[in-house]
This record gives sequence, structure tokens and C-alpha cells, in this order.
Amino acid sequence: MSEYTGFCSCGAVRFRLLSAPMFVHCCHCRDCQRQTGSAFVLNALIESDRVEILSGAPEPVSMPTDSGRPHDIYRCPQCKVAVWSDYGRRGVMRFVRVGTLDDPVVFPPDVHIYTRSKLPWVVLPDGVPSFDTYYDMKTLWQAESLKRREALKMAR
Ligand SMILES: [Zn+2]
Ligand SMILES: [Zn+2]
Repeated sequence: MSEYTGFCSCGAVRFRLLSAPMFVHCCHCRDCQRQTGSAFVLNALIESDRVEILSGAPEPVSMPTDSGRPHDIYRCPQCKVAVWSDYGRRGVMRFVRVGTLDDPVVFPPDVHIYTRSKLPWVVLPDGVPSFDTYYDMKTLWQAESLKRREALKMAR
């Protein structure tokens, strides 16, 4: 099994992913832009039990959302760098910030979403699906990933 390590800026939080993620989002929505202070966020969607914490204890910080659905960003308690999100407080799945991995090049986006607020100078690559808002998981995810996602639903 491959493993992918990552850490926060100060190194207090270290973790590894025990497999590749199910899917990778590049989100260009205004919330993600604000929360990262950048043009977009890169999130690797993976089962929580495939994220092994090697050191530190990331702390949840609750974000305001339009939908009212909870969004917790887990941050290093020391340097406050965000390492992953839990959307909907489901617990079973994490949105790991790809940029915190030692080798972020291994997980390019599978989809670009909320491109309606994409900054105009960000040029999207050919061949990667993109959507004004959200997308249909069932048509885009590989069967294997859908199976993994389904298994999570069962476990809830
Ligand atoms: Zn840190
Ligand atoms: Zn977003």
C-alpha cells in the first residue's frame, strides 16, 4: 500500500494517508478563496480511518456557512495551519489540504468546481471537468471510489 506523508508549517502535526484519496476537488468558491487567502483550495477526499496522525492533535475551528451545514477546519494547535476539513461534521471523511503533503504533485484535481468565481487569470487545463457550481459525484467518480464512499455511508 502506498503512503503519503504531510505536515503543518511548524511540524507539530504530522500525518500520512494510507492510500490515494477517493477524489480530488479544486474549489474556486469565494469561501475557499477567503479561507485559504488564495485563488482556490485543493482538497483530497479520503476516509478518516485512512488518515493516520503521526504527531500532534489538529483542532477543529468552526466556519460560518451559508447553508448552515457545519464546516470544521482542522488546524495545527501551534502554527494554525489548516491540514483538513470536515464538511457536515460527518467524522468519517476528511478533505485533506493537498498542499500540506510532502509531494502534492501526486494528487492533481479530478474536478474544478465553483468556477463561476474562478479568478480570471487561473487557466484550467484541458481534459479536467469543470463546473460553474457543484457536480454529480455518480457520473464523475470511478466505480472503485464510489464503492469506498458507499462503504462510509453504511458505517454511519
Ligand atoms: Zn504547526
Ligand atoms: Zn469551495
